[in-house]
Amino acid sequence: MTDHTSAIPERLQALHERIESARLRAGTPQPVTLIAVSKRQPLEAVRAAVAAGQRVFGENYVQEGVEKCAQIADPDLCWHHIGPIQSNKCRDIASAFDWAQGVDRSRIIQRLGAARQAQSTPLSVCIQVNVSGEASKSGAAPEAVEGLCTAVLDQPGLQLRGLMAIPAPRTAGGDPERDFAALRVLYERLRDGGLPLDTLSMGMSDDFEAAIAAGATMVRVGSALFGPRPQG
Ligand SMILES: *Cc1c(COP(=O)(O)O)cnc(C)c1O
Repeated sequence: MTDHTSAIPERLQALHERIESARLRAGTPQPVTLIAVSKRQPLEAVRAAVAAGQRVFGENYVQEGVEKCAQIADPDLCWHHIGPIQSNKCRDIASAFDWAQGVDRSRIIQRLGAARQAQSTPLSVCIQVNVSGEASKSGAAPEAVEGLCTAVLDQPGLQLRGLMAIPAPRTAGGDPERDFAALRVLYERLRDGGLPLDTLSMGMSDDFEAAIAAGATMVRVGSALFGPRPQG
C-alpha cells in the first residue's frame, strides 16, 4: 500500500461510526448506505477500499467508471453513476452501472430504459432534484419530479428507487440544511402518494451528518474517505 491508500481502512471505519451515530440520533430505521465516491481516484484506492470491506462505489465520469468496473471486475461490487447524464452516454451507463442517480429528464429515462431492457436486472434510478433553485443548474424542478418518477415506473428496464440532490454550498449562497429538509418533505409526500421509493440520497464529505439528520438513507462520500482528489 502506498501513502495515498494506507489511511483508507481507518477513514472507512471512522466514517461508519459517524454515519451510524447520526442514523441513531435521527431515528432512521433502515441502514444508511455509504457510497465511496472514487471519481478521479486511482484504481489502487478503489482496491484498498474493497480490501477494507467497502462494496458500493460512485463515479461521475462515464468512461472512467466503465474502465474501473471492467478492470476490477468484481461481481460483489455495486457501481453508482452519480454525475450529470448526457443522452449519448445512456447506453454505457446502462451496461456498466447498477444505479443511475443523475436522472433529471424524460429523454434520459427513455434512453436508459431502452438500453437496459436487454439485461436481466433493472437499473436502479434516483431522480436528481434541484432543491436550490437559481443557485443550482442540475436536477429536475421539484414540481416535475412526480411525473419523472411515473415515467421510470413505465420502463421495465428501470427500477425507481428514490431522490437525489446536491444542494448549492453555503459558499455559493446556498443553505444545504434547508435544501435537505425540502428534499425530505418531497420524498415523504411522494411516498405517501404511493410511489415505491426507498432511497433518499443526500450528503457528501462536508455535510453527510446534517443530511442524515434530515433523513438521508444514502450518503456519497469522496474526499473524507480517499483524501483530496488528484487534479487532472
Ligand atoms: C464528487 C461528488 C461527491 C463526493 O464529494 P466529496 O465532497 O468528495 O465527498 C458526492 N456526490 C456527487 C454527485 C459528486 O459529484
